[in-house]
Amino acid sequence: MVVLGGGFGGVYAALGLERLAAQGARVEVSLVNRENYLVFQPMLAEVVAGDVGILDTVSPLRQMLPGTELYVREIEAVDVDRKVVRLGAGLTPQTYELAYDHLVVALGNVTDFRGIPGLPEHALGFKALADAVRIRNHVINVLEQASVVRDAEVRRSMLTFVVAGGGFSGTEVAAALNDFVRRAVGDYRSLRREELRVVLVHSGKQVLERELTPGLARYATKTLGEQGIELMLGERLVAASPHGAVLGDGRRISTRTLISTVPSSPNPVVERMGLPTVRGRLECDGTMAVKGCEGALWAVGDCALIPMRDGSPSPPTAQHAIRQAKVLAANIVASEEGARRKVFAFKGLGKLGALGHRRAVAELPGGVTVEGRLAWLMWRCIYWAKLPGASRKTKVALSWLSDLALPSHPVQLNLGGGRGATQAHYEPGEVVFEEGDTGDSLFMILSGEVEVSQRVGGETRHIGTLGPGEYFGEMALLGAGARSASTRAATALDLLVLPGSDFAALAESMSEFRGQFERIARARAEADAARAASSSPD
Ligand SMILES: Cc1cc2nc3c(=O)[nH]c(=O)nc-3n(C[C@H](O)[C@H](O)[C@H](O)COP(=O)(O)OP(=O)(O)OC[C@H]3O[C@@H](n4cnc5c(N)ncnc54)[C@H](O)[C@@H]3O)c2cc1C
Repeated sequence: MVVLGGGFGGVYAALGLERLAAQGARVEVSLVNRENYLVFQPMLAEVVAGDVGILDTVSPLRQMLPGTELYVREIEAVDVDRKVVRLGAGLTPQTYELAYDHLVVALGNVTDFRGIPGLPEHALGFKALADAVRIRNHVINVLEQASVVRDAEVRRSMLTFVVAGGGFSGTEVAAALNDFVRRAVGDYRSLRREELRVVLVHSGKQVLERELTPGLARYATKTLGEQGIELMLGERLVAASPHGAVLGDGRRISTRTLISTVPSSPNPVVERMGLPTVRGRLECDGTMAVKGCEGALWAVGDCALIPMRDGSPSPPTAQHAIRQAKVLAANIVASEEGARRKVFAFKGLGKLGALGHRRAVAELPGGVTVEGRLAWLMWRCIYWAKLPGASRKTKVALSWLSDLALPSHPVQLNLGGGRGATQAHYEPGEVVFEEGDTGDSLFMILSGEVEVSQRVGGETRHIGTLGPGEYFGEMALLGAGARSASTRAATALDLLVLPGSDFAALAESMSEFRGQFERIARARAEADAARAASSSPD
């Protein structure tokens, strides 16, 4: 049996199969996952806030699944006809094929920012452990930079934090971020709490309105507002750039931090399997067999569309994935033994959402609702009890206890390493750089146009328009140090950005590369000199 994915669905399916093997079932289990750990996603917001340690939310798969062969690799494709899974190259350059009798697909879904201009380049996702660490590091970096910036507008933009999406993960990360920055600001002499702005953009009229009862959604919305979170409701994010977020009504929020919890998309491996899907989820029957492939292919968790008893699809939550996985393990063994398979029937144990400031909301079975501090205590107790393994429970309990007496401080995890080439998106009218700025990157235009202007004889003159395939920014890198002109997006603009250090390395080792840019820089410098001469009084 091969299990694809080491999230809740995959790990609990492998665990179920291991248990059945211990009871005498003839199964051999392999699991493939990108990481060698399971992430406890409900606590990721606590990592952002620093309420728990970075590794407190992960459980090592080798320890959880001692009877399973673990492959820590990228899954590239599944060949359903040949019954093999192709794994990507690891440290060796060869790909690897893994044959199966039964395949469990538990690959979840993926964050997919394509379709909203600027989001892939400038938004931070919030799904994996790396996302939580990246957000925390980025926010601390912004606080550090803002603490020494004097320009009021730039400082305001740096101290504005925007979260898009008012579902559970968006609400929880906005609340955790708000708690964290308001606490952290005390460590910076030059920053004041009133300068901070945490904005939550949500398309609905209330946060969590699709997830909870109207009363709880109202309470959640009111509580976030009382904590100083600025709610922009009935709004959608339509574009992003290095300096801001653009909303559907045309408003721009100037910010250096944009976290988006929407949209998510089907896992590309699942999409490429060519099997029947509904909104990207593999269509299954109630026993979790994938339609058209009964007896060999199964699916659980967020990537599977599993009907519940009333015909509605099972929701994409950890509690459902875990229950599905347990039934699925028994069904695989039953199908091998020619026994009857069970139909998945689980109604859910309720819903919990943390709102920051030690407040939460809880919707329990039977229509019971709880809010405020009691709900927050329930949130902590329930998720603590659900953490896999005694060592994880101990670590989280110690983190929470120590946090009461010794609150965490904004310390970055600097992993070093350069950024390499990246892409950037600018909306029409946005400045790429100003004359006099320090030159730290070279820009290549992928699409759109750039207007170049320069101050000549006390007035600003338009000196040219650049289009796709052209470069700019080389003059400062090749010697001047500071930008000799200003550049602004004339249309929606997509750029490839090469950091100055990478440009220097290429220019040093490739004389043709350097020569090409020196020629462009010389021609532009001559044009600058001619303009200056023509504007001088004599
Ligand atoms: C921030 C956040 C908070 C949440 N809070 C709650 C909550 O409080 N309660 C609740 O019930 N649910 C919660 N959820 C939802 C819950 O986490 C998911 O429903 C659950 O994790 C789904 O499990 P899964 O196994 O289907 O997918 P996932 O957990 O997404 O696991 C998929 C696994 O497959 C791996 N993978 C994917 N593609 C490849 C590839 N090509 N190669 C190798 N490996 C690959 C991934 O690395 C991952 O380990 C939350 C989700 C998030 C993001």
